[in-house]
Amino acid sequence: MPTPRRCLVTGANRGLGLAFVQHLLAGGDDVVATCRQPGRAAALNALVGEHPGHLHLLPLELREPRSIEALAHELPLVCDGLDLLVNNAGVLHSGERFGSVPAANLDDSFRSNASGPFLLTQALSKQLAAGARVANLSSSWGSITSLEAFRTPTYAISKAAQNMVTALLARALADRGIVVLALNPGWVRTEMGGAHAELSPDEAVAGLLEVIDGAGMADSGRFLDWRGEDVPW
Ligand code: NDP
Repeated sequence: MPTPRRCLVTGANRGLGLAFVQHLLAGGDDVVATCRQPGRAAALNALVGEHPGHLHLLPLELREPRSIEALAHELPLVCDGLDLLVNNAGVLHSGERFGSVPAANLDDSFRSNASGPFLLTQALSKQLAAGARVANLSSSWGSITSLEAFRTPTYAISKAAQNMVTALLARALADRGIVVLALNPGWVRTEMGGAHAELSPDEAVAGLLEVIDGAGMADSGRFLDWRGEDVPW
């Protein structure tokens, strides 16, 4: 049996985050699942009962630097180091139109999708083991070179900023052999992706975990999709 990996997944109460937790536990890994309201995370709490000692729940609100710092302090109580950090949590404000994009949406998107993952990775960087992987859930809508229309602007702006976070972290953590990836999960049937999306969360996460597992130092800082194909920046 391979040694279990120590993993942390953000936004783990639903959607892709929950699927990440399920896949990692099924693969024998130990998981710290974070979400904004652990007391209301019914699916996660049920999983804790099924995987005693292998799944821990901790609160995390990415928009709040204090919440990030609190998590960094609490993590060593349940987990001695991290082999995989999945920056999965994210927000999409739909229905935005040029001329009336609210400043509050920009602030919310930036904090949740870009500065939050950056501050979290920075706060946890000392707890990342040599050779660890950091997977940042990005989106093709954050791609500047394949921009098609003025849609979901605060999401697109914040995911493009998150891509820079990935590129910078890849360089900052390279000397410790830590691989940092920007990952496009595809169009997935979650609350964000909607009921008509192409992929189930299981399909997307199975692909993403293969990409994460197969990535080496030469791949650090790349923007890849769930099939391992390059996504234009
Ligand atoms: P969902 O909307 O289904 O879930 C989003 C998760 O992020 C929820 O757990 C939510 O928590 C959490 N979250 C949002 N904001 C914050 C915050 N400020 N602090 C902490 N947690 C937060 O999205 P998906 O599962 O579909 O998406 C997961 C990731 O994949 C996202 O980063 C998304 O941008 C990306 N992605 C998804 C695609 C898709 O088709 N589904 C396509 C491309 C990218 P809560 O329940 O409390 O709101």
